[in-house]
Amino acid sequence: MAASPRMTFEDEMQFRHAAMEWLAMRTNDGAEPMYFLDIEEFEYEGARTPLRNRYKGIWKPATFGAALSFTTKFTKPGKERPYEDAVGDDGLIRYKWRDGGPDIPDNRALRAAMEAGLPLIWFYGIAEGVYQPIFPVFLVAEEADQHQFVVAIDDAQRLFEDGPIFSEGPSLSVVEKRYAARMARQRLHQPVFRSMVMRAYDEHCAVCALHHVELLDAAHILPDAHEDGIAAVTNGLSLCKIHHSAYDRKFMGIRPDYVVEIRTDLLTEVDGPMLRHGLQERHGERLLILPQRRKERPSSALLEKAYHRFLEAA
Ligand SMILES: [Zn+2]
Repeated sequence: MAASPRMTFEDEMQFRHAAMEWLAMRTNDGAEPMYFLDIEEFEYEGARTPLRNRYKGIWKPATFGAALSFTTKFTKPGKERPYEDAVGDDGLIRYKWRDGGPDIPDNRALRAAMEAGLPLIWFYGIAEGVYQPIFPVFLVAEEADQHQFVVAIDDAQRLFEDGPIFSEGPSLSVVEKRYAARMARQRLHQPVFRSMVMRAYDEHCAVCALHHVELLDAAHILPDAHEDGIAAVTNGLSLCKIHHSAYDRKFMGIRPDYVVEIRTDLLTEVDGPMLRHGLQERHGERLLILPQRRKERPSSALLEKAYHRFLEAA
């Protein structure tokens, strides 16, 4: 059997752009996750061409010269492998080699994408068979001693490619590091965290049960927890815009036993229906919506800390 002809660099670029445009359309510009069956529907020039392979973390189609996508598998809450996608001192994320040494085909395929500067797709597992596609991402360096690639999560981060992240280069300034870390959070951590939280609460506000995803946020129980990694779903709450702001601004607290409290001075205020139904009537009531899976429910230790901050602010 003759081997399929290798695509040219230009053809591969065109394919990647078409794939990413399609993903942008299917995910509301990268904000929503996809089921793996939906990912398999991608067609290019009339033929179905998978964007990932369900049996392999690193995917290079046969006619490609370099990897097209890589996958981080979903890990159940409590079983996270903390350093899998750790953010380095430079603010950039790392992706581990596939086990088996530097020269196995999968790792070579990633290296080829790095050397050619090709954009890749990162499929990040947020539940069994559900992935948040992050794109485009670029591999900008390899840290062979630690068996990993350095991932830039947008074009701006790629600018760091010219030196600072390599050991001989001048080191990144504090401002650059902060910028890189913030970009990593915005482009990878935020959509992954949001999708995990929306899924756990079945797209309802935990306090009022509102069921319109456009009006819901994935709120952090403690804002500064887990700065360096994907925030765990146990540090999250699905809240509508009003309840999110009320929680962050300490108008409302949530006790570790999932009971809502409204700041005392607000309980006696007289105003319209939003204050009455939205806030005052929730006082002393349990959260209306909690994740079905116990392990995805808010951590009582984190709620406790946040509740103390609420009491101090009142
Ligand atoms: Zn609400």
